[in-house]
Amino acid sequence: MALLKAQIDQGFDQINVPDEDGYLRVPYDFCKATKRISDCLVRAMIYSFSCVKGRPDARCAMSYSRIQDKLHYSRSTVNAAIHAATENGAFDQDKSNRFRASYKYLQTATDEESGEASASALPSFTVEFYLLHTAFVGKDNKFHYLPKSAALVLGLIKTHYENGGFVGSVRGIALTLGLSPTTVQKAINLLMDLSLIFRPKERRGVNRSRRSAYAVNEKLLRKAERNFKKQLKSKDRSSADDPEDVKIERERYYARLQQAERERVESFERTLNADSRYFALDRRRRQLEIEVAKAEVFMPIRLPELEEELRQVNVDRARQMAQIGISEEDLKPRFLCPKCEDTGYNKSDGRMCDCFPKRRRT
Ligand SMILES: [Zn+2]
Repeated sequence: MALLKAQIDQGFDQINVPDEDGYLRVPYDFCKATKRISDCLVRAMIYSFSCVKGRPDARCAMSYSRIQDKLHYSRSTVNAAIHAATENGAFDQDKSNRFRASYKYLQTATDEESGEASASALPSFTVEFYLLHTAFVGKDNKFHYLPKSAALVLGLIKTHYENGGFVGSVRGIALTLGLSPTTVQKAINLLMDLSLIFRPKERRGVNRSRRSAYAVNEKLLRKAERNFKKQLKSKDRSSADDPEDVKIERERYYARLQQAERERVESFERTLNADSRYFALDRRRRQLEIEVAKAEVFMPIRLPELEEELRQVNVDRARQMAQIGISEEDLKPRFLCPKCEDTGYNKSDGRMCDCFPKRRRT
């Protein structure tokens, strides 16, 4: 904790106006004062947009749907968090604009640089928005969005990343973020599984109270950030108010998802087919499937023999695949959204799926 504290104290100069592709400043006090992560993040949102150095009248005037969108939360979660925040007097809510309320964090701290009391001087760490909006691929080859707890842990690690490392204990991180050690441990395990952080073996802590050193996969994160910014830009260019454009944008989005998934499966198939034994077995398997179907109608007497050969070919093919290191599972399509299987239309009722990322401007 001593190390964390020392590093926290240096974090003041990173103050700017958070923008679309920017980041949240999360004051440590908010983490400790809130039971739910959603309460903490919504407060951090109001704080980040209303407490800006050199701009005393800045207010957060984002609509609920904007906040929902930026934090990936439901309306009721945002609603509850804003109510909780404005209840205790630290957050001011101005409803005089009938279209949109605005919010401001009121409490102040002393700015170490200028010695002046300022609300923008609360010790905080940063969580970049792209961390909340990027699906990373895990060891299971599936896409995972970061749970908020993992985004907080990663934000903390990135903020206090010095000389290629972060040193901290699970307990220390848990105390700092107001989370349980179990939650933090889970978050760290997930971040490691997604290859976002590494723990060099020789510096691994002996138990939860011991500190471990973590390295961040900067290359992967830079790539994720670039992709996120690119997506925002392309959304910017499309005039989102034209329903026709929205439709095209939607179709493109799902086409891209499906294309990426096809390419993934195809690359596995290419690897398999490059193996001559697999190639021969797979071809024979497909022939046999046709022959079995034909025999069922025209020559039932040959069925047992053909079925036995097909069974044997399937066994050999599976064995050969295992040798190559590709499973049958790898060849099945995987979907980001199980409801519509990335087609944009729900399998159950054919309606438009709600998994299309929401528009930026509301
Ligand atoms: Zn969907």
